[in-house]
Amino acid sequence: MTTRQDLPAAASTGDAGLVPLADRLFWMQAVRVALAGAVLAGTPLLGSQLSPGLCAATAAYLALSLLPARASRRRRADGRSSTVTLLGIGLLLDAVYLALTTYGTAGVGSPLQYLVVVHLVAATLLGSFRTGLKLALWHSMLAATAWQLERDGAPHVGTAPAPLRDLAALLLVAWAVTAATATLAAVNERELRRRTYDLDALAALSLRLERSVSAPAAAQALVDGVVETFGFPRAVLLAAPSGSLNPVATHGTDEATDAAGSPDEDRLVARTMRERRTLRVAQLDAAEEPWLAEVLDGARNVLAFPLVAEDAPLGVLVVEQAGLRAPGGRPRPGGRVERRVVDTVERFASMAALALSGAWLLERVTALATTDALTGVANRRSFDEALERELSRASRSGAPFALALLDIDFFKRLNDTYGHQTGDVALQRVAAAVAGAVRGSDVVARYGGEEFAVVMPATGLEDAAMVAERVRAAVQAIEAEPHVTVSVGVAAYPEAARTAPVLLAAADAALYASKEGGRNRVSVAGVSDADQSVGATTGPAEQRGEQAVPVPVGA
Ligand code: GH3
Ligand code: MG
Ligand code: MG
Repeated sequence: MTTRQDLPAAASTGDAGLVPLADRLFWMQAVRVALAGAVLAGTPLLGSQLSPGLCAATAAYLALSLLPARASRRRRADGRSSTVTLLGIGLLLDAVYLALTTYGTAGVGSPLQYLVVVHLVAATLLGSFRTGLKLALWHSMLAATAWQLERDGAPHVGTAPAPLRDLAALLLVAWAVTAATATLAAVNERELRRRTYDLDALAALSLRLERSVSAPAAAQALVDGVVETFGFPRAVLLAAPSGSLNPVATHGTDEATDAAGSPDEDRLVARTMRERRTLRVAQLDAAEEPWLAEVLDGARNVLAFPLVAEDAPLGVLVVEQAGLRAPGGRPRPGGRVERRVVDTVERFASMAALALSGAWLLERVTALATTDALTGVANRRSFDEALERELSRASRSGAPFALALLDIDFFKRLNDTYGHQTGDVALQRVAAAVAGAVRGSDVVARYGGEEFAVVMPATGLEDAAMVAERVRAAVQAIEAEPHVTVSVGVAAYPEAARTAPVLLAAADAALYASKEGGRNRVSVAGVSDADQSVGATTGPAEQRGEQAVPVPVGA
């Protein structure tokens, strides 16, 4: 299972900054230049003088305001905290500069005082709701101090001290504009943040799907992605790679594999597959949804999302919605799911559906390329690969392995008597009997027309002869008519040969010996790979050493 740490940081934390800090600093500086320009242009227009002190203060202010940006570029690798601190100090200094240049030249009633509002709006938009409110408090304190200093007769280029009304008007406008800007920006930002979160989660899922090489891995990637993004407590993915729906990935429930019955019969699942749209039930009804009611016991607000690829329904993703939480937020009990969540999960589902259908297609193509269509055992190509694999493994490790070749006795006669279709059915039965008589690690393959081969890894000659005898007996024991038997030749590495062609020839020679010896028996290739001599021949007790009595075909 993929862990949360594998997700890109933005998707896992859910609070990715929408605008990079460097960009915000850039725009804050643009605002500073504009403010300084407005002060320089506005002061003479208002009848005050552009005093050397004002010019010096402006120059110092502009020079200082460039410092944080350079510092931030240098320190970005250390994390954002130092940059944020510098941004905060910069805002405090901005306010001091504005207080000095506006109240200091034309008093608290100066028309330039509304540059404070511009500053507040900029800081709120580029910073945050809280930055705006803190800055408004700081501006208020500075304005109140300036107003008090004016009343106490501090020298300035104004006329009479401004009345309290002017101060009140400034504060009222400043706070109202800050609050309005902050509120509107917050609404906008929350939506943007959620969309960014969803997009990051989608990107993370697509990465996981890309890394999932098998269908089960792709299925689990979808379930994990959906659960981690939206915090659904339980989820089950039902899919139908071959006919009926089965649970292929789950989260938060262990019941899926043990549950009785089939999810196909649940109304919610069947309807979602049929209608190919997301459906929701407030509560699972055991009468309508017996399978889901068992697997998601006690679930409320259950959503079923269809998985559709290439216009065909592949499966259904069922999630329990209770306790849904907003990204980064606390769980919210029950209720309707937001449209946004449904939309995003639908996108998750369609992306995963494509990945799943691709993985299934690959599985099918691989199966077609490696199995024999008539009998379902490995085909000649995978037999050749298995033999090469075992040879190189054995030559590396020195461990033995064995090969058995089987040929059905008098098969031509069976075909001639009963027809090829019956012959084909007999081939299928023999393949099943052979596969049932060997270990799971052995490779059973259809070697040719009515010839089969068994590759037995890590098996010595003696054990291989025993397995071969078991196989022979298993074929003889097939109860269906027409009755068939097989002759078997066994050869082992390294006794018989050290290369594939020689080993095959040795097994074939042993098989020929079985045929010669009367059929329905097992022969073992001798130990010399030079002369390929055939050793012991074994067969059913009643036949061994006696006249060859082939079991009559169809008798
Ligand atoms: P022996 O005991 O000596 O093996 O006698 P046999 O008749 O089995 O001889 P042989 O192995 O040469 O016969 C192969 C026959 O198997 C020929 C062909 O009619 C039949 N055969 C091969 N492939 C198929 C198949 O895919 N389907 C069917 N029905 N018959 C097949
Ligand atoms: Mg043959
Ligand atoms: Mg034959």
